[in-house]
Amino acid sequence: MAGLVIGRQCRPTPGADAMETIQGIPVSSGIAIGRAFVLDAVERYVPERKIAPDQVDHEIDRLWTAINGALDELTELRTRTEEELGSDPARILDFHIGVLKDPTLMDPVEERIRSGNVNAERAVAERFEQLAQQFRGMGSSVLRQKANDIIDLDRRVLGRLLGKSDDRLAEIEESVVLVAHELTPTQAATLDREKILAIATDAGGRTSHTSIIARALQIPSVVGCHALTNTTQDGDRVIIDGEQGLVRVRPDRGMIDSYVEKQTDQRARQIKLREFSDLESITSDGTRISLLGNIEFPEEARTTIENGGDGVGLYRTEFLWLTRDRPPTEEEQFEAYREAMELLGGQPLTIRTFDLGADKYTQQQAEEPERNPFLGLRSIRYCLQNLPMFKTQLRAIVRASAFGPMKIMFPLVSTVMELRQTKMLLRDVCEELEEESIPYDRDLETGMMVEVPSAALMAKVFASEVSFFSIGTNDLIQYTLAVDRGNERVANLYTGGHPAVLQLIKNVVRAARRRSVDVSICGEIAAEPIYTMLLIGLGIRTLSLVPSQIPLIKRVVRSVDIERCERVARKISTFDSERQVVNCLRDELRKVNPESLSDSRMDA
Ligand code: PEP
Ligand code: MG
Repeated sequence: MAGLVIGRQCRPTPGADAMETIQGIPVSSGIAIGRAFVLDAVERYVPERKIAPDQVDHEIDRLWTAINGALDELTELRTRTEEELGSDPARILDFHIGVLKDPTLMDPVEERIRSGNVNAERAVAERFEQLAQQFRGMGSSVLRQKANDIIDLDRRVLGRLLGKSDDRLAEIEESVVLVAHELTPTQAATLDREKILAIATDAGGRTSHTSIIARALQIPSVVGCHALTNTTQDGDRVIIDGEQGLVRVRPDRGMIDSYVEKQTDQRARQIKLREFSDLESITSDGTRISLLGNIEFPEEARTTIENGGDGVGLYRTEFLWLTRDRPPTEEEQFEAYREAMELLGGQPLTIRTFDLGADKYTQQQAEEPERNPFLGLRSIRYCLQNLPMFKTQLRAIVRASAFGPMKIMFPLVSTVMELRQTKMLLRDVCEELEEESIPYDRDLETGMMVEVPSAALMAKVFASEVSFFSIGTNDLIQYTLAVDRGNERVANLYTGGHPAVLQLIKNVVRAARRRSVDVSICGEIAAEPIYTMLLIGLGIRTLSLVPSQIPLIKRVVRSVDIERCERVARKISTFDSERQVVNCLRDELRKVNPESLSDSRMDA
């Protein structure tokens, strides 16, 4: 055998040359035609090189330099983690450090170089694969999980020996269509937009965080394609149709030509739609509907304004964690918040505190991953159990509030006590800044996301605690209907048109009105034209959505009046099934704005 293979083996491609069409879930529109880069199907090959006997000592030096370099990196990471997050998260790294320091585990690598005259990379890859196999074969699930840590170590040491990151995504050199089984939000957030023409994945749902980022980056994307990675080989030509949710693998000439035409047509429609950016967002009878942007990165504040948004309604700050390999410092956070604020040029910025957990960050770092992470230690719960980290964020936010109109809101609040505890922490932070004579906005408004049924049902109680509600329908739908928002197998059950979801929204709006509390929607339904009339009819006057969709929603707003919207809302309330609701919403939109129905999956 000439080399060692780590990772998933290449699987046979049925009918290797035949054209195939796969129907997935459309998440970010646009059409892309390009060569596939299949993330999971390509083997990582560590070649074996024979080392001349007089070079063996040099090879062993290389080995220990790489191991010691990785050790230094991990020790520094451990110290920083302990300072910023406390001793519990830092302890996770003790295992990594222990393995590299253990002579019984590492000496065999040196021995293999000496006795086999093989290169250091090969000896390291063999040893870590052996160790990973041993852990995989262990009885306890905690020990089996350690196999992942071993693979992480293998990457760190090999990365140093090979002198480059072994992250395949970082190896992409030309424009490709990224085909993967699944992408984590971290992977999606760090994609090089210049090189990724489109994304298609086997797994995922329309409102999974990875899909949300793809839309934010305006990369045509289709998820939930089931076995796409089985059918596609690296280098295959593929077409991604993000509007229809189709992936065409190995298309023939005729198919390519027809998609080139569609691309041209779509670009023309996008240009036409952009004209709405500069128009006011008012209904035909003069009611103002405020359209705000949902952002993950500070630069998107600019895109929000360019698309005609009135500010940012949701800044998903946890992306500060997902785009670096260590926790963001107070200064880094402060700079990001201030940058977003300044780019908005006086328009308001709503900052959501870290929504970590579930699919974002913590599980990848956990010593023992949670069994049910979406029902586990996520969002505000995670922050309240990691107070030093949470207080650091609150300080950065409050400091940035001195630079423009800002609001702060808390995600996934499910009990009143959580909210009160959080507000107390915020008060402590403000007092600290006061003592340090650091300026901040004393009228900083405090709000909460309503994204679990308990919060929606108790909106009346919460309304006396906050000055605004932001309804997060992405999670509210998932928790109300018990449907995982990122699971393609139940994607057909995931819908904002379910009467139970609509009743909860109604309840929140009613409670908010009674207490004069502002209420907005920041889930993905705010970006779907079929829901616009219904939401206005239910009394919503502020929508927060992916910036690229603002012109599309503005066009709908400008073509309806309040009376019509209220009529639609009343009609919808008589239905008992989501199918009736969605069909009716489509019909109503077709009547007032047919082009918005056909453009509804198109990012402007
Ligand atoms: C939501 O749940 O609707 C929401 C806006 O938050 P996120 O999508 O970040 O979970
Ligand atoms: Mg949410």
